[in-house]
Amino acid sequence: KELPADPITENYVRQVENACFSFVTPVKTANPEILHVSPEMLENLGLSQEDAQSEEFKNIFTGNEVLPNTQPYAMCYGGHQFGNWAGQLGDGRAINLTEIVHNNQRWAIQLKGAGKTPYSRTADGLAVLRSSIREYLCSEAMFHLGVPTTRALSLALSGDEVLRDMLYNGHPAYEKGAIVSRIAPSFLRFGNYQILAARKDVQTLKTLTDYTIKHFYPELGEPSKESYLQFFGKVAEKSLKMVIHWQRVGFVHGVMNTDNMSILGLTIDYGPYGWLEGYDYGWTPNTTDSQHKRYRYGNQPNIVLWNLYQLANALFLLINEAEGLEKILADFGTNFEIQYLDMMRSKIGLFNQNENDQKLIQELENNLHLTETDMSIFYRNLSQFQKEKPEEGLKIIAAAFYNSIEEFPKITEAWNNWFNQYSLRLQLETATNTERAEKMNSVNPKYVLRNYIAQLAIDAANKGDYNLIDELFNLLKNPYSEQKEQEKWFVKRPEWARNKVGCSM
Ligand code: AMP
Ligand code: MG
Ligand code: MG
Repeated sequence: KELPADPITENYVRQVENACFSFVTPVKTANPEILHVSPEMLENLGLSQEDAQSEEFKNIFTGNEVLPNTQPYAMCYGGHQFGNWAGQLGDGRAINLTEIVHNNQRWAIQLKGAGKTPYSRTADGLAVLRSSIREYLCSEAMFHLGVPTTRALSLALSGDEVLRDMLYNGHPAYEKGAIVSRIAPSFLRFGNYQILAARKDVQTLKTLTDYTIKHFYPELGEPSKESYLQFFGKVAEKSLKMVIHWQRVGFVHGVMNTDNMSILGLTIDYGPYGWLEGYDYGWTPNTTDSQHKRYRYGNQPNIVLWNLYQLANALFLLINEAEGLEKILADFGTNFEIQYLDMMRSKIGLFNQNENDQKLIQELENNLHLTETDMSIFYRNLSQFQKEKPEEGLKIIAAAFYNSIEEFPKITEAWNNWFNQYSLRLQLETATNTERAEKMNSVNPKYVLRNYIAQLAIDAANKGDYNLIDELFNLLKNPYSEQKEQEKWFVKRPEWARNKVGCSM
C-alpha cells in the first residue's frame, strides 16, 4: 500500500485516487482575530466562554495551531454542477481539523478558508469576510429555525488580504480574508460517493459507504445489499425533510449541485443563497444561474430528486439491482406531495385534513404570485386573521404587498375570494383564533436573514464595526418570537436593495 501524501510537501493540486481524503495542514495567517463565537456551539462541543477567549482557541480555529494528535484533512468528492458531471472537486478551501464526541454526539470540525488543498484547482483556498459572515449568520439562523443544517462555531479574520474578481465589485479588489469554523456530524456529500463510482473504485466506495452506515446510520446494521438500499432510503427521506423546511421558511440554496448535498440531509454550503422576499417560484439568488434558473425556489424539490438519482447511480455499484432504488425514487414524489401539503396546512393554521385543502393551498400560492408579495410578512400577518371576518383579510396582509393593489380589482377580488374560502375552511377547525395564531407563529418565522440585512452587517464589518453581526446573531436565535425592540427587521426589503444579491466566492 502506498503511504498517504505528506500534508505539507505533497499538498499540490492533483487527482487523488483510491482515497477518500488527503492530509493537509492549514496555512498560518498574518493576524488572526476572532470576531464572533456561537455560545450554543461552544456548549455542544464542551467548551466554555473562557476557552473561547484564549489564544489557543484563536489559533486553532484559524488554522494557526494544530491540535496535538490530530491530522487535518481535506475530502475528495466530485459532483454534478448545474446538471453536468464535473469530475473531481473536493474540499478546495475546507479543512477538517478533527472529530470529537461530546454528550454522545459526534462533531466534525472544519475550517473554511484555511488555505489550499489538493482540491483547490485554480483557486486560492481562501474565503473573504463577506461570504464568511453570510455563512456564519445563516447557518446558525437555520438551526434556530428548525432546519437541518451544518452549524458554525466561530467567525474570524485571518489578517490576510484576499483578491477577488469582478463578479462582485465589477473589478478585482482586495478584501479582508476570513475563516469560519463550521461543525456538523459529518460533511460527507453525495459527491463523495459519486467520485468513487465514476472511477469504478468499488472497493473504496464500499469502504466509505460502510463507514457512513456504521457511524451515521448504525440502525441499519451490518453491510449488505439490503442495508445499502435502506441507507439510500434514509438519505432520500432526510433530503426530502430538508427541502420541505426550505420551502416552509423561503430559503433558496442557490447552488444545489450534488457536491452540496449532505449525506445526512443537512443544509450545506452557504454560498449565494437567499431568502424569498416576494413569493416567487421562479426566483433564484444565484446570478450565474439567471438564465436557466435551475435552482429557483419552486424547483428545489425537483432538484433534490434529481440529485438523489445521481446518488442512486453511484450506490448501484454496490447493490447491482435497480428495482429497490427505483422504488425509493418513485416514492419521493408521493411523499413530497403528502409532506408539502401538511407543511402548508401548518403555515395557514389547519390542523385537520380536508379533501379541498390542496385546492385552497394552490389558490393561495396562485394569489401570492399575482403581485410581488412578501412571503414572511404575509404568513406572519395571516395569523391575525379572524375566521369570522373574511372581509378584513386583505387589510391584515396589506403590508406584505410591495406595490399598491388598489388599481387592480382582479387581485382584490382573488384575495377576497380566497379569504372567504379560508374563513369557511377555518369553521371546520376547533382551534380558536388565538390558538391558531400561536401555532402559525411557531412555523412562520418573523425574522429571517434577508439579503439586504446580511449586507448591512457586511458593509459595517468591512469598516471594522462588528456590532451588527452580534445583533443579528441574537435576533435570529429567536426567529419565531416577537422581539419588540427589533421591529425594524420585520420590514419589506427596501427599494435600494432590489436585485442586490449575495455572492459566495
Ligand atoms: P461551491 O460552488 O461553493 O460548492 O464550490 C465548488 C468547488 O469549488 C468546491 O470543490 C470548492 O471547494 C471549490 N472552491 C470554491 N471556492 C474556492 C476557493 N476560494 N479556493 C479553492 N477552492 C474553492
Ligand atoms: Mg460546495
Ligand atoms: Mg461554496
